[in-house]
Amino acid sequence: MLESEILTTRADKFKEFIKGIVSWGRKWSFWPIPIGTACCGIEYMAVVSSHFDASRWGAEVVRFSPRQADLMVVAGTITRKMAGVLRRVWEQMAEPKWVISFGSCASSGNGIYQTYSVLEGIDKIIPVDVYVAGCPPRPEALLEAIEFLQEKLDGKKEIFKKLESEGRIIQAGRKTLILGGHEIR
Ligand code: SF4
Repeated sequence: MLESEILTTRADKFKEFIKGIVSWGRKWSFWPIPIGTACCGIEYMAVVSSHFDASRWGAEVVRFSPRQADLMVVAGTITRKMAGVLRRVWEQMAEPKWVISFGSCASSGNGIYQTYSVLEGIDKIIPVDVYVAGCPPRPEALLEAIEFLQEKLDGKKEIFKKLESEGRIIQAGRKTLILGGHEIR
C-alpha cells in the first residue's frame, strides 16, 4: 500500500516536471501567423524587425502555414468576404493555439469603417485571447500581449500586475484587453 502511494506520488511529480518543461518550451517559442491586412500590419512588421525584436520573446519565427503556427495575430481590417478564409486558417492551426486581435479594426471593425462589408470584430468568427486597443496600437503593446500569453502558460502575473497598476488592462471573463503601450527607445 505504502509502496504504491510512493510510486503514485513520484509519477505525479514526474508528470508535473514534464508539464513544466513543455510549458516552458511553448512559452519561449510562439510561432506566429500574421494576418496583416491593413496599416496595423505595418506595426506588426516593426515588432518582428530589429528595433523591437520579438525574438527576445522567442516569437519572431513568422510562419505562413497555419499547420506550423500556434499564435494568430490579426492586424488590420477584416471584411466579410475574408471572414470565411480567416476561420479556415484558424481551424487549420494545431492545438494549443492562441489569437491576438491587434488594433481597433480587428477587434471591432473600427468606427470609421462601419459599413456593410466590414466584419465588426474577429471574435464573431474565432475565439480571441487578447485584444490590443488602438488605431494603430504601438508595437510595444503587442509585445505586452505576447508577454501576457507567456504568463498564462506559466501561471505568473508580473506583466498583468504592471499593466493593472498603470490602468492599462481590462479583463472580462476569459477576454483581456490591453490599452496603449509605452514607447521604448
Ligand atoms: S486599427 Fe487603425 S491603423 Fe489599424 S488597420 Fe485599422 S485603421 Fe489601420
